[in-house]
Amino acid sequence: MDNKKSWFTEEFQDEGTAFSLEVTGKIHEEQSEFQKIEIYETTRFGRLMVLDGCVMLTDRDNFLYHEMMIHPALFTHSDPKKVVVVGGGDCGALKEVLKHPGVESAWQVEIDERVTRVSEKYFPDLCTANNDPRANFFFGDGIRWIQDADPGSIDVIIVDSTDPVGPAEGLFAVDFYRNCLLALADGGILVQQTESPLLHTESIIKGVHDDMKSAGFQAVHTLPFPQPVYPTGWWSCTMAGKGRGVLNFREDDAAQKGFPTHYYNDQVHRGALAVPEFMKTVLGLE
Ligand code: SAM
Repeated sequence: MDNKKSWFTEEFQDEGTAFSLEVTGKIHEEQSEFQKIEIYETTRFGRLMVLDGCVMLTDRDNFLYHEMMIHPALFTHSDPKKVVVVGGGDCGALKEVLKHPGVESAWQVEIDERVTRVSEKYFPDLCTANNDPRANFFFGDGIRWIQDADPGSIDVIIVDSTDPVGPAEGLFAVDFYRNCLLALADGGILVQQTESPLLHTESIIKGVHDDMKSAGFQAVHTLPFPQPVYPTGWWSCTMAGKGRGVLNFREDDAAQKGFPTHYYNDQVHRGALAVPEFMKTVLGLE
C-alpha cells in the first residue's frame, strides 16, 4: 500500500460499507446556513461535492443521475412546458431539463443558495444553462414553494434532494405529494430520487409508492440506474402520474431526441422500466 495517498471516505455505518475516492486535496469548505459544503479534487473522478459528509456528485459520473432523473420523466409527459426542480442546487438537473426545446420555463427551487454559488465556481459544466432565458431560480424551501404554487400550473416536478433527513425529510411525505398533485396540471408527472434499490426498497421506496398513491397519483413506477459514487453504486428515481392509469413512454420521441446525452437513450429508458424480482415482491407488483 502507498501510504502517501489521500482518500475521501464516506462510511455507511448501518450497512457496514464505505465508499472512497482518491483525492489530491480539499479546495473548498464552508458551513452554510443549512449544511457543510466541501469540494475535493480527486485523481480520477474530477471534482467531488460533499454535503454534510455525504457524496453529492463528481464530475465524472453525475451524468448518470442527472440524465435519469430528467429524461425518462420528460419523455413520459406528453408535452412538458413548465418544469420545476426542487433541490438540485448544483444545477445539473436544470441543465438536462433545458435540453428539451419544448420546455418554456424551468424553475430551480433550492433551499441553500450557497450550493448553487459554489457549483457555479467549481462545477461550471453543470451550470452552462443557468443563463438560458427559460431558467428561473428561487432560493427557499421547496415544500413551501410547492404549497404556494398555483393549482394546475406545472407539468413536471423533479425532486432532486438530499437524503430524507433535515430539510429534505418533508419532501418524502404524503402531504408534500398532495401539494405536488394539486400544483400539477392533468397528465402531470412527479419524479423523485428514491435512494438505493438494494438498501432502501423496503425502508424508503415502498413508503414513497404508498404515499404517492394515497396522495392521489394513479400510476407509480421506480426506475433503477447505476450511480457509482452513491451507496451500493445503484440508485433509483420514482415517477408518478396525475390523472392517468399508466405512465406512457414517448419512445419514438426519445429515439429522435435531437440533443446529446452520455447515458440516456430510448433503449436505456426501456431497460430502466424493467422491475427486478425482489422489488416486485416488496412493492406488491404482479
Ligand atoms: N444528487 C444528489 C443526491 O441524491 O445526493 C442531490 C443533489 S442536490 C445538491 C440536493 C439539494 O437538495 C441540496 O443542495 C439541498 O440543499 C437541497 N434541498 C434539501 N432539502 C430541500 C428543501 N426542502 N427545499 C429545497 N431544496 C432542498
